[in-house]
Amino acid sequence: TEAERQAMKKALAEVRAQFGRTYPLIIGGERVMTQQTLPSINPSAPSEVVGMAAKAGKAEAEAALEAAWKAFPAWAALSQEARSRVLLRAAAIMRRRKMELAAWLVYEVGKNWVEASADVAEAIDFIEYYARSALDYYRPGAVEVTPWPNEDNESFYIPMGAGVSIAPWNFPIAIYTGMMIAPIAVGNTVIAKPAEDAVVVGAKVFEILEEAGLPPGVANFLPGVGEEVGAYLVAHPKTRFITFTGSMEVGLKINETAAKLAPGQKWIKRVVTEMGGKDAIIVDETADLEAAALGVVTSAYGFSGQKCSAASRLIVLDEVHDDLMERVLDRAEKLVVGPAEENPDLGPVINAEQEEKILGYIEIGQSEGQLRLGGKKLEGEGYFLAPTVFDDVDPKARIAQEEIFGPVLSVIRVPDFDAALEVANDTVYGLTGGVYSRDRARLERARREFMVGNLYFNRKITGALVGVQPFGGFNLSGTNAKTGSPDYLGLFLLMKSVTERF
Ligand code: NAD
Repeated sequence: TEAERQAMKKALAEVRAQFGRTYPLIIGGERVMTQQTLPSINPSAPSEVVGMAAKAGKAEAEAALEAAWKAFPAWAALSQEARSRVLLRAAAIMRRRKMELAAWLVYEVGKNWVEASADVAEAIDFIEYYARSALDYYRPGAVEVTPWPNEDNESFYIPMGAGVSIAPWNFPIAIYTGMMIAPIAVGNTVIAKPAEDAVVVGAKVFEILEEAGLPPGVANFLPGVGEEVGAYLVAHPKTRFITFTGSMEVGLKINETAAKLAPGQKWIKRVVTEMGGKDAIIVDETADLEAAALGVVTSAYGFSGQKCSAASRLIVLDEVHDDLMERVLDRAEKLVVGPAEENPDLGPVINAEQEEKILGYIEIGQSEGQLRLGGKKLEGEGYFLAPTVFDDVDPKARIAQEEIFGPVLSVIRVPDFDAALEVANDTVYGLTGGVYSRDRARLERARREFMVGNLYFNRKITGALVGVQPFGGFNLSGTNAKTGSPDYLGLFLLMKSVTERF
């Protein structure tokens, strides 16, 4: 509506007026400045510095671990009701500031207004969901055990200690907040490292936690370079758990490093690594092709394909290939690409390095498929790429196997539904997937045989809702830690069992 448009413009202008500020680290409630800083730029206009964050090194990582362990006993000893109250307050503050937060997302990572608002809404959902589910873990009798003669048996949960949360830039508020709040909600303390490209939004989250009254040291804000401070914390003997979302490459490295026992380390680290995808949508000859075309285009190009859940493969049965392609191309070529603040269909990609990588894949694609749309960078400032479609791609081609994380769709033709399922599963990943079909028997088969953590029938394959579609993949898409499910909280708990003879 017009009123919403005005409110959006106002929020954008207010945030723009705050560009260029420097945000310190927050360790044990203290603001800490460092010699070096991390700049955060606007990908729609890279000459604009959105803000700067202090850059943590080893000394700050040590201090943060110390602060987190110092805060742990008191936070763990609080009642769950008291802990959840603080978090629900944070959610309420976030809701009050949601326009402003969405505006920061528009400028810091290039989300359009719709995507930015959804990111904020999801962050609020995560906090409320985890704050409420945490109560279930700590109610008396939460762990049911079989009665036994002459013995009193009880099993209950306790928090683990201080851990590290390492976030990606693509959901800088939802995933960053969700990953740190879950362990905190059940009584742990955390060092939260935002991605290098999203430090300002990270700092905003901390403003909110502080205002909500989260005790000092329970969450520590530690922006820094992944390979430096991230890797250091992962390897550290005092790190009790690690929760990570990001690329497969980094996730695998984290698993490897964390598995090694560092001198003085007294536990096996609990490691949660949620990673990438090469998500496919299957469309068969019984499908509503118009709905399928809309679903494919929405899933492939929303936020320029920079979602782990984005469709990057379209697997289509021969019989409807031409018809579907016409509809997909028709929709994709109408998409508007432009500066995120103008609320286009596609904003920019995140940075120069990512743009380079995607253009590299487009180059590779020229010899692996038939370029039907896009395939180029747009003129002018900003990292803008045209929505790109490669048709007739071999399922084994690199653009059909590797995560590109940009607005590039690979179309693969198959003769029948058997082949479609086989191609869909022929990847190291297994995050999201979709099927457009009106054939009940095929949908039932896909339900059993399409090996992804999140499977969608006759709708787009992105946009999981907290508590509605617990989210997390199979295979090299990660450890299947289902965010937005009660199981997720259990990952940051230990179970203790006590038996007393009477
Ligand atoms: P990335 O792996 O490059 O970085 C993620 C985080 O890890 C950043 O904070 C980074 O600083 C840190 N890091 C980098 N090297 C490290 C190291 N050696 N040790 C410790 N930390 C290190 O990922 P990205 O580019 O920020 O995010 C995009 C990726 O995230 C995509 O692959 C996408 O599919 C994935 N993703 C997955 C999910 C999911 O739920 N499965 C959700 C969102 C994004």
